[in-house]
Amino acid sequence: MAETPKYDVVVIGSGPGGYVAAIRAAQLGLKTAIVEKDNKFGGTCLHVGCIPTKALLVNAEIYDHFKNAKDYGIFCKEFSLDWTAVQARKAKIVTRLAKGVEFLLKKNKVEIIHGFGRLSGPGRISLTGGESQAQELAAKNIVLATGSEAKLLPGLEADGKTILTNREVLDLGQIPKSMIVIGAGAVGVEFASIFHRFGTKVTVLEMLPRAVPLEDEDISAELEKAFRKQGIAVHTQAKVEKATRTAGGVSVAFTSSDGKPQTLAAETLLVAVGRAPNTQGIGLEKTRVRTERGFVKVGPYMQTDEPGVYAIGDIVAGSPLLAHVASMEGIVAVMHAAGQPTEPINYQHVPNCTYCEPEIASVGLTEGQARDAGHTVKVGKFPFAGNSKAGILGTREGFVKIVCAEPYGEILGVHMIGPRVTESIAEAVVAMRLEGTAFDLSHTMHAHPTLAEAVLEAAHAVEGKAIHI
Ligand SMILES: Cc1cc2nc3c(=O)[nH]c(=O)nc-3n(C[C@H](O)[C@H](O)[C@H](O)COP(=O)(O)OP(=O)(O)OC[C@H]3O[C@@H](n4cnc5c(N)ncnc54)[C@H](O)[C@@H]3O)c2cc1C
Repeated sequence: MAETPKYDVVVIGSGPGGYVAAIRAAQLGLKTAIVEKDNKFGGTCLHVGCIPTKALLVNAEIYDHFKNAKDYGIFCKEFSLDWTAVQARKAKIVTRLAKGVEFLLKKNKVEIIHGFGRLSGPGRISLTGGESQAQELAAKNIVLATGSEAKLLPGLEADGKTILTNREVLDLGQIPKSMIVIGAGAVGVEFASIFHRFGTKVTVLEMLPRAVPLEDEDISAELEKAFRKQGIAVHTQAKVEKATRTAGGVSVAFTSSDGKPQTLAAETLLVAVGRAPNTQGIGLEKTRVRTERGFVKVGPYMQTDEPGVYAIGDIVAGSPLLAHVASMEGIVAVMHAAGQPTEPINYQHVPNCTYCEPEIASVGLTEGQARDAGHTVKVGKFPFAGNSKAGILGTREGFVKIVCAEPYGEILGVHMIGPRVTESIAEAVVAMRLEGTAFDLSHTMHAHPTLAEAVLEAAHAVEGKAIHI
């Protein structure tokens, strides 16, 4: 019988958590392998998440520019959307990036093993379904990075045509005439923004009292206002009772905020009600790994309760389901496994970006959370209407809001909605990591004319001294 291959680190799953962990482990000189069940690398993020959605959002933005070209003195007599070409562009971006991940793994001498990985005993992983000769691997350290899948509502099954999750909606054969989106979290509002701009009549149903419910209340209110202005219907406090397939698509019964039963019909239904961790069938039951509703509980360095087993990314209990969080957790896990100095993740410093129109970006505590935590709060807010670059771009909606603590003005949270704020949030994250104050930000020179000047002005506004308003 062939000898069991032995590694310092085996990573299970090649999403942004797994492949980054594997590359860093190899960079640290550890003999590393990565196990992936699919025939492509990059996970949810690359194939059915971050990358394809943002590719479509660029198409939507350009199409919007054509529709509004006359505002810029440009007259287009004819233009149209070629859905096949849009899909082909998206596929090309995804394929190029997936090949890039494979190239990086190989460049760093990470051994690639195709197959379904499962913990089979202390320091052991069994493999099924791949082409690997070995059926078992031995590893001093194992990093679980198996990611998540979309949740559906009880009794509903995605069919690829009418009832959709983030997977099927990306591969629709044509742009639907109408769509109901259940869930106004990041995934729901991004798809609402994409399809609305492609011409789909979109209605969003959210069970909680506001859209993007994890964001600051002012941000939710601004997004709802912007969506309604654009023509996207948003029903909050809408409790979906039943979704039924019909001859023309789907019918959704829900109870609206006033307690009245309502019914909506549409060609398609996108279910965006959250994610479930891929922790079934990976052998956790034979270990000391603790879980909470399927999510894995970890220590500050991503260690589970089973010695030598780490968990990172979407499967981690209490960790935000974001690609950059998965990657950072992967680095922390393997640095710890290698005995290298590292630091636990500070989840207060995680940037959250939602690429709807207008974009949303935030870090740290919302105003409400800061007050609930007992801080004496001081807030500075500056609208993009007062920012010259926003005026030049022709998108004056939204604002930057900085939440600070008295008496020193320490920045507790920054919340933005408006043009390209998903780029501007990086400076707020750095400011918070360096324990910056509103004074620090207001004395940091920002180039003119830039959208980032709205951050500078919001910092001035903390002391009630914004210049351009
Ligand atoms: C529509 C959508 C849009 C998103 N947009 C963004 C965004 O803009 N920015 C952002 O930060 N985040 C975004 N996310 C979230 C992001 O995609 C995830 O947080 C991220 O992919 C999680 O990374 P991961 O490595 O934990 O898992 P995943 O990316 O899910 O990867 C897990 C990998 O493990 C493999 N696997 C699973 N089980 C096994 C097994 N037993 N053996 C071998 N392989 C296995 C899977 O095939 C997969 O390749 C989005 C998500 C969705 C759904």
